[in-house]
Amino acid sequence: MTDRVVNFAAGPATLPLSVLEEARRDLLCLPGVGASPLEVSHRSPWFEGVIGEAEANLRLLLGIPETYRVLFVQGGATLQFSMVAMNLLRGPSGPAGYVLTGSWGGKALAEAATQGPTRVLWDGGADGYVRVPGPAEVEEAAAAPYVHITANETVHGVEWPPGAEPATDAPLVCDASSDLLSRPLDISRYGLLYAGAQKNAGPAGVTVVVVHDDLLAGVPDGLPGMLDYRTYSDHGSMYNTPPVFAIYVLLLVTRWLRDDVGGLDVQFRINREKAALLYDEIDRSGGFYRGHAQPGSRSLMNVTYRLPTAELERIFVREAAGNGLIELKGHRSVGGIRASIYNAMPLEGVGILAAFMRDFAQRNG
Ligand code: PMP
Repeated sequence: MTDRVVNFAAGPATLPLSVLEEARRDLLCLPGVGASPLEVSHRSPWFEGVIGEAEANLRLLLGIPETYRVLFVQGGATLQFSMVAMNLLRGPSGPAGYVLTGSWGGKALAEAATQGPTRVLWDGGADGYVRVPGPAEVEEAAAAPYVHITANETVHGVEWPPGAEPATDAPLVCDASSDLLSRPLDISRYGLLYAGAQKNAGPAGVTVVVVHDDLLAGVPDGLPGMLDYRTYSDHGSMYNTPPVFAIYVLLLVTRWLRDDVGGLDVQFRINREKAALLYDEIDRSGGFYRGHAQPGSRSLMNVTYRLPTAELERIFVREAAGNGLIELKGHRSVGGIRASIYNAMPLEGVGILAAFMRDFAQRNG
């Protein structure tokens, strides 16, 4: 394991080492099953146990009550951009409201607009997506079938602080792809949450959807089966073959969060500590590093910042990689540096990056 690097990838992202070790141990032969998790039927008692416990762990960690369904869907968060609108927007009610705090929200909006009327309630694009709006800035949308937000904008590094999501009478729909399971949530504030697993919950290939029963009751008839949430809720997410291996690893990650970490309150504290190491480094650099997001909207998951020149940014990324700190190049639309520090990134890994940043600023400032 000594040749493992410190991986700041935005997703698929680093996984807990103990989860990888367990998956490796069981890869050839699951105890009591005699076959690999890659080879076992989704109708087997083993997998029924896996998907059942995965759901139970998500319910426990996030405090999801019985009035919500937990669904496992394929197609990534991107398919949810469409499915949300197909299931919740078709019909006579008014436009769905979208609050845009980064580029993912814009993608969600574009897909929804193919399904029905939409309205932008706030758009931070003019400033380059550096913050979330204050409560008075978001247009009212009481009659909307739903209001959509992106909990954490992975590319820009802009995250709603806990409890700051817009207060709306319309059901709140949330793309939580890059911060679900990173902190406790008040689920009752949401009608629907979705998250691709490949940041905090497991490998790519499975998307978690948490949806309130009231919203399912209003899904229109006539949707293709695989695009209708009720197909998943009526068949325990096993209408067809689910991504067995991805859900198995998701189970291991949720067990790790439950048993090794000790729940989301603890994980949230660790995540704040990790993010503070990097933001402190930015703030004390005397302007050498410039954070992209404004302080009140800074993401605990994706720390985005610039250096004085694009050339220095290239050198930073190259030198960091030479020191075993990889995937630090920012998204091409924002540039600069992005350090993704999801749950499984250890505090020590972030500490190594913070020390590298200090040293780099001293040598190049
Ligand atoms: N929403 C957010 C916030 C994301 O970060 C991503 C992926 N980086 C997506 C949606 C798209 O996810 P997927 O690739 O699973 O479709």
